[in-house]
Amino acid sequence: MSDIIVPQAFTSETCDAVVIGGGIVGTATAFWLSKAGFKVILVEKRDGLSSLTTAASAECFRTQFTEKAMADIALPSVEMFEKFKDVVELPDIDIAITQKGYLFVTDDPDMMPDLKRAVTQYKTLGIPGSELITGDDLHKRFPFLAPQALGATFNNRDGWISTHETTYGFAKGSKNARFFIRTQVTGIQTDTDGVCAVETNKGTIHTRMVVNCAGPYARIIGEMAGVTLPFRTVRRQKAFIRTASPMVPKDAPFTVDLNNHGYWRPEAGGVLCAWVDPNEPESAPSDEPATDWDFAAESIHRASRLNPFFETIAEELKGDDIDVSAGFYVYTPDDKPVIGPCDEVKGLHLNCGYWCGVMMAPEAGKRVADIATGKMDNRDNPLRYSRFKEGNYEKGDTFLK
Ligand SMILES: Cc1cc2nc3c(=O)[nH]c(=O)nc-3n(C[C@H](O)[C@H](O)[C@H](O)COP(=O)(O)OP(=O)(O)OC[C@H]3O[C@@H](n4cnc5c(N)ncnc54)[C@H](O)[C@@H]3O)c2cc1C
Repeated sequence: MSDIIVPQAFTSETCDAVVIGGGIVGTATAFWLSKAGFKVILVEKRDGLSSLTTAASAECFRTQFTEKAMADIALPSVEMFEKFKDVVELPDIDIAITQKGYLFVTDDPDMMPDLKRAVTQYKTLGIPGSELITGDDLHKRFPFLAPQALGATFNNRDGWISTHETTYGFAKGSKNARFFIRTQVTGIQTDTDGVCAVETNKGTIHTRMVVNCAGPYARIIGEMAGVTLPFRTVRRQKAFIRTASPMVPKDAPFTVDLNNHGYWRPEAGGVLCAWVDPNEPESAPSDEPATDWDFAAESIHRASRLNPFFETIAEELKGDDIDVSAGFYVYTPDDKPVIGPCDEVKGLHLNCGYWCGVMMAPEAGKRVADIATGKMDNRDNPLRYSRFKEGNYEKGDTFLK
C-alpha cells in the first residue's frame, strides 16, 4: 500500500523515478513503475490526486479507434478497467464501470461511407464487437433517436468509469511509491548524464528518471528540462444537467452527433452534455479555466437535433440545474499522445499530449514501465517522441477528438 502525503519541507530525497502530475495518467504511470520495482515519488501541486483535467472529463472510454497506435493502447486499457480489482490487487475497489457503449450517429447520407470504413477498420484492427447499425434496426435499438438518424457505429463494450476511484485505485495499489501532494515542481536539474534532480517547493528529489505527466502543463515541465514539446492546449467544457425527467433514456450509450460535434450520456441525477468546438482557439493552461455563459444552452441545442427528448428536458430547466466545468485537451502534431523516453534529454520520459488520457491511462502507464525496463524496445513504440523528428507520423481520422 502506498502513502499519499503532504510532505514537510525536506533537504533532499532520492528515488529511482519521479512522476510529475497526479492525474489519472501520472498515477497509472507511478503504479506500473512501482510494480516493475522502481522506487517512485509522484509529485502533485494540488490538494489531491485526480483534481485537474481528470476531474473535468466526461470519464468515458472507448475501443473505437481507427488508428492502430491508438487502438493498441485503448483496447488493453478497457480490459484493465474491466478487471481493475485484479490489476491493482484491491478486492474492494469499485470504479463504477458502466458499459453501455459509444454510439457515433449521423443523419447525413454522405457520411455513411465514413461509418462503414470505420467499422471495417475496427475489424481489421481486431477490435471485437464493433457494429454498423442502420435504418429500422438503429431506431429499434435506440428509440430515443430522432427519425432522421440514418446510421451509427456502436460498440457496447465502451462506456464510463469513476475517474476518481480509478486514480486512487492506482495510487493505493502501488507497491513502492509515495505520492507527495501540495508539492509543486519548480525545476529539473541535468548533468552530463542527463536528468539528475527535480526541484520542488518542498525540497530537491535526486533521481535519474523523470516522467512528465503534467497534463496541460506538460509543455512547461518540458521547458524546465530544456525541451520544447510541440503541444497545443485547447479549452474544452462540459455541462451537467440535473434532471429527474422520465424522458431521459437511462440506459442510453454515450451518444455522439457526428455532424455537429455534440455528445451526451446519462449520469446519476441527470445527463452530461457537451460539444467539441473545432474553432476553439489554443489558450494557455490554467487551473481555473473560465466557462462560457451559453455553453450549456448551445450543448443542449446541439444534442436536441438527434436526441429530441432534450427539448422536453430543456423546457423544465432552471439555472440551478446546470453546472458547467472546463479543462484542457492537449493536441500534438498528429493528435496522438507521446509515451516513452525523450531522446533530447537522457532520463526524461513523457506520458502526455492527451485529448483522451482517461481511456488511455492504464496501458500508457504500463508502456512507460515496459520501455524503462527494456521489456519493450522504444523503436517498436509508434507513440515515441522521436516520431516527430523522424517525420514518421500522420493525423488519423478517428471520430470526435
Ligand atoms: C470537458 C472534457 C471532457 C473530457 N472527456 C474525456 C473522456 O470522456 N475520456 C477521456 O479519455 N478523456 C477525456 N478528456 C481528456 C482527459 O480528461 C485528459 O486527457 C486526462 O484527464 C489527462 O490526464 P492527466 O493525468 O494527463 O492530466 P491531469 O488530470 O491534468 O493531471 C496533471 C496533473 O499535473 C499536475 N501538475 C502540473 N504541473 C505541475 C507542477 N509543476 N508540479 C506538480 N504538479 C503539477 C496538475 O496539477 C495535474 O493534477 C476530457 C477533457 C475535458 C476537458
